[in-house]
Amino acid sequence: MAEPKGNELMDKIVSLCKRRGFIFQSSEIYGGINGFWDYGPLGAELKRNVKELWWRRMTQQRDDIVGLEATIIMHPQIWKASGHVDTFNDPMLDCKTCQGRFRADQIDEIPCPLKPSNSVSQCTGAKTPVRNFNLMFKTNVGPIESADNLAYLRPETAQAIFVQFKNVLETSRQKVPFGIAQVGKAFRNEVTPRNYTFRSREFEQMELEFFIRPDEAVEAIGGIVASGSQPSTLNPQPNWGWEAWHKYWVEARIRFYENIGLPRATLEEYWQKPEELAHYAKACVDILFKFPFGTQELEGIAARSDFDLSQHQRFSGKSMGVFDEELKAAWAKLDETKKTELSQRYFEARFKYLTKMGEPADKAEKQAREDVAGLAKGNYIPHVIEPSAGVDRLILALICNAYAEDQAPDEKGKLESRVVMRFHPRIAPIKVAVFPLLKNRPELLNKAKEVRDLLRPHMTVFYDEAGAIGRRYRRQDEAGTPFGVTIDFDTLGEKPELLNTVTLRDRDSMKQDRIKIDELVPLLLEKIR
Ligand code: ATP
Repeated sequence: MAEPKGNELMDKIVSLCKRRGFIFQSSEIYGGINGFWDYGPLGAELKRNVKELWWRRMTQQRDDIVGLEATIIMHPQIWKASGHVDTFNDPMLDCKTCQGRFRADQIDEIPCPLKPSNSVSQCTGAKTPVRNFNLMFKTNVGPIESADNLAYLRPETAQAIFVQFKNVLETSRQKVPFGIAQVGKAFRNEVTPRNYTFRSREFEQMELEFFIRPDEAVEAIGGIVASGSQPSTLNPQPNWGWEAWHKYWVEARIRFYENIGLPRATLEEYWQKPEELAHYAKACVDILFKFPFGTQELEGIAARSDFDLSQHQRFSGKSMGVFDEELKAAWAKLDETKKTELSQRYFEARFKYLTKMGEPADKAEKQAREDVAGLAKGNYIPHVIEPSAGVDRLILALICNAYAEDQAPDEKGKLESRVVMRFHPRIAPIKVAVFPLLKNRPELLNKAKEVRDLLRPHMTVFYDEAGAIGRRYRRQDEAGTPFGVTIDFDTLGEKPELLNTVTLRDRDSMKQDRIKIDELVPLLLEKIR
């Protein structure tokens, strides 16, 4: 059977998500609100599983990353320092023909509803001039609406990590290189939310800021800076500079996606060209997913130099630097040529940053010289690698990737088409469904409930006794439940040798195996972990 593609596929996915309770339009009974989405029972479980896995892999299963949970509303100066107040803008224009509002940089991709040509660029001569539109949602803190108590809903989770950097460093006993991870809501007043949940106005991010030594410090300590041409070993080395760490995180993040069921072939790495990079960024890779509506960004992994911490140091007046004992000791042993060379490189980088930020040349030079003197004593502002992923985009990617149509036999063995969500068991909203073969036999129901209660402490279980068994399987196929356990008369000992065994059905192969009830928990746990 031909698999649906593109728009047809998206329509089917959107309809399944609503029908089965993955995703609902926010405020639907009031006509909805553009760019806002709710997750229904299955979607909420799916999202939870993904966030928990990210958190576990990033923090609990590593020694070098710790977590943070910060507020959504923070001091407004943070957004001044980060550049969001001045530059977090999208170019916007209106189409006078259809009255629609569009992002000027996406104009060729967006259909004008009044034009059959499918492109607003056909409304030539009927567009308003481009205006810059700041994407941050504004609010007021306290009862009075005034410029003095203006605040913003955070447009990213990352800045909280930077501003709490020193507190975390001082309380967590971590040393550079180490990371701080956060999962949480972010808000962007997108000009044109679209492609279902892909571009929303309220969404969640999973962000890591991984702090590393500047290359000059790495070189002073280890003699050379490894660019990490083979980070595929995922085995961090002390002589890694920013380039190696950046490649490491690109590979680590792709492996995370593979691990939750997105094959490498569904992803693409897009290495931003030098002219596309933010002025402070040394490199940025977008990990793209092949969505039915096009290949689009799932996550960005940026090498952001020491820009963010430096900005907060300048704006808050508080030091964001660290003291590195190893660097201090190593520097003292360097020969003069090396000292001069590293000092010069560090000076140039700091001077460039400061002048770019508008500091007058004499002041920038003085500051950069102080920074070099600091480096020689073991002090520096850490650089950072930032893998920044959107939870909702990932959920959409997982849903698109899981969606499949195939053929399955009905009660009488006749083939019928089925929709099946092939989620990896690790992220599937429900891990196992428990079915008594017949509803009208209390002994079957009692045994099935016993099995449900046996499994429930270990995983999400769905108990279903209503309707023909084939139909119950089909419902779970659509929910993406990887395993089904059926309690039949053999379970009760009709064939004595099968007493206390059940059938275990695999969602994808539809194969059924006879398993001892006692073996169910370890067997399923192995598959879902
Ligand atoms: P885009 O270019 O698609 O607007 P971006 O490059 O501005 O995205 P970042 O600021 O790098 O995105 O944010 C990091 C991640 O947060 C993105 O890779 C994406 O997964 C997610 N994200 C950003 N904006 C949105 C949004 N409006 N809706 C859902 N997820 C988003």
